[in-house]
Amino acid sequence: MHSPHPDQGKKSINQADLTHNEHKSSNQVLVQLLAEFVPKSQTIREVFIESSALKNLPEKLMHHFGQSKVMLIADENTWSAGGLAAQSELQKAGYEVEKYLFPANPQPRPTIETARTLSDELRSDNLIPVVVGTGVLNDLVKFAAFKAGRSYCCVPTAASMDGYASAGSVLSDQGFKITHNCAPPKLILIDLDILAAAPSEMSGWGYGDLAGKVPAGGDWIIADSLGLENIDKIAWPLVQGNLRMCLENPEGMRRGEPESLQSLVIGLLLTGLAMEFFGSSRPASGADHQIAHIWEMEHHQFNGQLVSHGACVAIGCLSTMALYDWLLQQPLEQFAYNKSNYKTMGDKEIEIKCLFRQPEIVRRALLETERKHLESGQIEERIDQLKNVWPKLRNRLQNHLLPTTKLKYLLEAANAPIRAHQIGISEEHLKRTIRAARFIRSRYTILDLLDQTGLLDKALSEAQLPL
Ligand SMILES: [Zn+2]
Repeated sequence: MHSPHPDQGKKSINQADLTHNEHKSSNQVLVQLLAEFVPKSQTIREVFIESSALKNLPEKLMHHFGQSKVMLIADENTWSAGGLAAQSELQKAGYEVEKYLFPANPQPRPTIETARTLSDELRSDNLIPVVVGTGVLNDLVKFAAFKAGRSYCCVPTAASMDGYASAGSVLSDQGFKITHNCAPPKLILIDLDILAAAPSEMSGWGYGDLAGKVPAGGDWIIADSLGLENIDKIAWPLVQGNLRMCLENPEGMRRGEPESLQSLVIGLLLTGLAMEFFGSSRPASGADHQIAHIWEMEHHQFNGQLVSHGACVAIGCLSTMALYDWLLQQPLEQFAYNKSNYKTMGDKEIEIKCLFRQPEIVRRALLETERKHLESGQIEERIDQLKNVWPKLRNRLQNHLLPTTKLKYLLEAANAPIRAHQIGISEEHLKRTIRAARFIRSRYTILDLLDQTGLLDKALSEAQLPL
C-alpha cells in the first residue's frame, strides 16, 4: 500500500533537517491551535484525534448526543476501512445500529438529489447520523443532516480533503456545483490508525487540497490589494500561518506515519474552521478550486474512476502557480491597456455558451459572471488601480507564494498528481478548463486579473502549465 517513492532519497530544502522531535513540536503547535479554535465554532463541540480513537466512539457519542439509535453511513470501501469496526464498538456498548450503505461502484455522486433522499431517511427516526468516510460521503451527510435538523458525527477514513470541519457542502444542483451553507459535524472523531491504513494516494489528495491554499492565498492578496475583499485577521493566519508547517513532511504522510498524518489532517481541519469563521470558502479556495470544480462538474473519470477532489485541486494548484510565475514576470506598472481586448457581458455570454453545454450551468455561470463584470469605463479605472498597486502587490505575492518547483516536489513526494495527464486531462482540456473556471464563481482571482487586462491568452500560451 505504501510503495517506496522513487525520489525517497532526495529531501526538500525545508524539511531536510527536521528531526523527529521537530515534527513532534510542530504537531504540538497545531494541536494547540485546534484546541484554541474548536471552541469558537458554532457547531463543532469536539475534535478527537488519537490512535485507536474508534474505541472511544460510544463514549463520545453518549457525551455529545445521548443514547439513541445510530445510523452509520458509509460506502462499501469505507465500511471495510472503519464502518464495521465502528458498528462492533457501538454494539458492544449497547447501541442499536442501522446502516445506510452506498455501493463502492458506481461511487455515490455528490448531488443534491442523493442528499435529499438520505435526508428523508434521517428524518424518519430519532437517529444519530455517523458518517464513516471522506469527501462525497461527508458532503452528502452534512447536507442531509442539516436539512433533517440533526447534528451529526464524522469519522474520516482518510486525510483526503478539507471539508470535514467546514460549514459548507459542495454538491451539484442540476449539474452546477455549488457550496451550500450547512452546519459542520458536532463531533469529529479521527482514528490515526484508520488514516494510516488508507492508500497513500488518498492522503496525497488531502495534501493536494491543502497545497491549493498557497495560490488561493495569492488570489486573496490580489482581491485585497484591489479593495475587493479584505484579508481577514482571523481566517488568514489560521490557514496561511500554519500552511508551511502542515506541508512540511510529505514523505512521512506517504509512509502513513501517524504524526505526519496528524499534521495534515489538522491543517485540513483548520481551513474548515477558517471557512466557518469567515462565512465563505474564500480563505481556502481560489482559481485552484474553480479549475477543480469544472472537472468535478464534468464528473471527470480516469481509468474508470471519478478523479478525486484533492487530485483535481493538485493540478488546479500547479496550473494557477504556473500563471502566477508568468504574471510575476510582467511589468504591469507600465502596462498599456488595449481597448480592443474589452469584453462586454454579451461577449462573455457567447464564451460561456461555447464552454458549457448544460442550460442550468450556463444560467448560473451568467449570474456569477455578471456580479463581477465591469463596464468599459470601469475597466480602465481597474487597470489604473492595478498599475498603481502592482509593485507592492508583486512583492506581497512573491513573499507569500512558495516556488512552484518546490510545491511540485512536495506534491510528488506526497503521492499527489503533478501533471494533468496523470488525471487524464489533455493540454487542450486543461486550457479550456482554465478559460472556463472564472465564469463559475463571482470570486475574484488571478484569472479575472488576466482576463481584464487581456493577458489570459498570452499567459496560457507562455506559462509552464503542468502538462
Ligand atoms: Zn477542497
